Amino acid sequence: MKPHSIKRILVTGGAGFLGSHLCKRLLDDGHEVICVDNYFTGTKDNIIPLMDNRRFEVIRHDITFPLYLEVDEIYNLACPASPIHYQHDPVQTTKTSVHGAINMLGLAKRIKAKIFQASTSEVYGDPQIHPQTEDYWGHVNPIGFRSCYDEGKRCAETLFFDYRRQHKLRIKVARIFNTYGPNMHPNDGRVVSNFIVQALQNKPITLYGDGSQSRSFCHVDDLIEVFVRLMNSPDDFTGPVNTGNPDEFTIRELAEIIIDLTGSKSELVFRPLPSDDPTQRRPNITLAKEKLGWEPEIHLEEGLKRTVPYFEKLLLENRFDI
Ligand code: NAD
Ligand code: UDP
Ligand code: UDP
Repeated sequence: MKPHSIKRILVTGGAGFLGSHLCKRLLDDGHEVICVDNYFTGTKDNIIPLMDNRRFEVIRHDITFPLYLEVDEIYNLACPASPIHYQHDPVQTTKTSVHGAINMLGLAKRIKAKIFQASTSEVYGDPQIHPQTEDYWGHVNPIGFRSCYDEGKRCAETLFFDYRRQHKLRIKVARIFNTYGPNMHPNDGRVVSNFIVQALQNKPITLYGDGSQSRSFCHVDDLIEVFVRLMNSPDDFTGPVNTGNPDEFTIRELAEIIIDLTGSKSELVFRPLPSDDPTQRRPNITLAKEKLGWEPEIHLEEGLKRTVPYFEKLLLENRFDI
């Protein structure tokens, strides 16, 4: 029998960028971890370092189908997160968010597990208030190219709160803002990975639009800390809570920082702005500070310094096409 303080924890999307860091953290804390993933965007490379741990188990499974397990806690992270990936099969993206949430909530209900949802700043759409607070209802296009992701995640939040109201589930909802770090997929088109990969190869840095749109970038280590704090917070604190770094940069500033940091000879080139691309995004994290005593500690330059070596290694090993 396992000691009381050791929990059995399910992480869906555990082979992805955030999921693999979360699995590692939970193992480091002494827990048993079951990683469920269908490898749509995740890769075994992210979890191979964890495979030697006897407390780690992996199941290949698509969460749009039912799943029967016995665990104490569920972190529901499964969902493609980058625009290229979630727009590749938009119907499957919505199914993952909605059917996936129903299945994981049904599982949590049956086994009385606490359940965490990886929601997103995209629930705010192209926000008309700035910075965004949790009580803002958002400005979202229901029928555009990003809608499968934005509306899927909004519906998942609805389901979480209805399962709480109807079935008394213990839920935790984090609205995650742009996050970066090792284990990001090198080809998923997200801005930090694109720019680092381009800079390391001295290829043109592709700014969409004029690069004046802004984002606030959080290092993955800061984010995983707030996930765990939120999961362990009192049951009456459900969120939704913004999790991200409030330091805001234009995309052009980000490009310049990465060029400096890598000593790259890359030039800036301008490409068309994708439709519905939010012009600005920055979390108000007062709630996370008050309720969880959390705020990010890793500044962008420091976080990028910790991230570049991961991409350098992929480049050396010729694995940019994984
Ligand atoms: P990721 O694409 O690296 O990881 C997602 C993982 O889910 C992958 O391993 C993928 O194979 C798996 N997956 C996808 N569909 C699945 C399905 N139907 N069944 C089982 N597994 C499935 O993305 P990430 O950046 O690690 O994001 C993790 C979660 O956090 C996502 O829910 C995402 O929406 C959310 N999020 C991330 C960010 C960010 O900046 N990284 C921002 C906001 C929200
Ligand atoms: N479910 C699951 N694992 C479980 C329990 C339920 O995957 O251990 C799924 C099941 O497919 C079901 C969904 O979760 O359709 C919602 O479950 P719930 O009990 O809320 O609804 P119902 O089974 O009554 O439709
Ligand atoms: N972007 C860019 N060049 C790239 C990739 C992205 O200028 O090579 C821009 C993109 O248009 C958006 C911002 O960077 O304005 C962040 O894009 P990302 O896909 O990383 O995240 P999201 O749009 O979901 O916040």
